[in-house]
Amino acid sequence: MPHAAKFFFHGRLNDFLPKLRKNEWLAYNFDGAPAVKDAMEAIGVPHPEIGNILINGAAAGFMHPLQTGVEVEVFPAVCATTSPGKIPTDAELLDPVKFILDVHLGKLAKLLRMAGFDTLYETSYDDKVIAQIARADNRIVLTRDVGLLKHKAIQQGYWLRSQHGNEQLTEVIKRYGLQKAVQPFKRCLVCNGLIRQVEKETVQEQLPPKTKLYFSEFYQCTCCNKVYWKGSHYERMQQFLQQINIE
Ligand SMILES: [Zn+2]
Repeated sequence: MPHAAKFFFHGRLNDFLPKLRKNEWLAYNFDGAPAVKDAMEAIGVPHPEIGNILINGAAAGFMHPLQTGVEVEVFPAVCATTSPGKIPTDAELLDPVKFILDVHLGKLAKLLRMAGFDTLYETSYDDKVIAQIARADNRIVLTRDVGLLKHKAIQQGYWLRSQHGNEQLTEVIKRYGLQKAVQPFKRCLVCNGLIRQVEKETVQEQLPPKTKLYFSEFYQCTCCNKVYWKGSHYERMQQFLQQINIE
């Protein structure tokens, strides 16, 4: 006869449950003594989204063997650098977060780079490569694919709720408490390389005529040499980032 345990998922973990099963105790039948992590993923919740686990009120880890009759309460992961609702200080952000994105998130990759975050994105990456790089380079996986987040090599990751780039950027900044870590004009949108300010004379030949006329401050990627200036896209980005901060 299979064993049975009960699970309650809190907060945003309900996003992974069917509509009629949210915010209620769920019965889970199982054989043997699976790790609690495997049971939660079988229900549909990927482990990188999970924070604290209480089994019959006592803290437990992912590998805790599930036993019959227990009640498991599961809470969402919170930002590692801060408590919910608290903006981290600069000192708490000494270890900058790094991301790797799945192949469907080209727009978000550009927006994250625009905001200055170290963001790997290549259309040639498959799930296995993403998981390997994330583990080796301590990167957070961002994806719309719940299955990818269940890959056992992935330790940190977040499932994007929205399908729209701007909303996704807002989600990521809020999830990881990055409001104060935004640094426009730090990274190249094309290759993720660092950009630095350069003299106008050194990049003259790469500039459109009107840009040459109206702008005086220029930046260049140290990897691919692409030239940047604070045009209309920069203004829009500033406005957008202010909106996130106000919320
Ligand atoms: Zn570049």
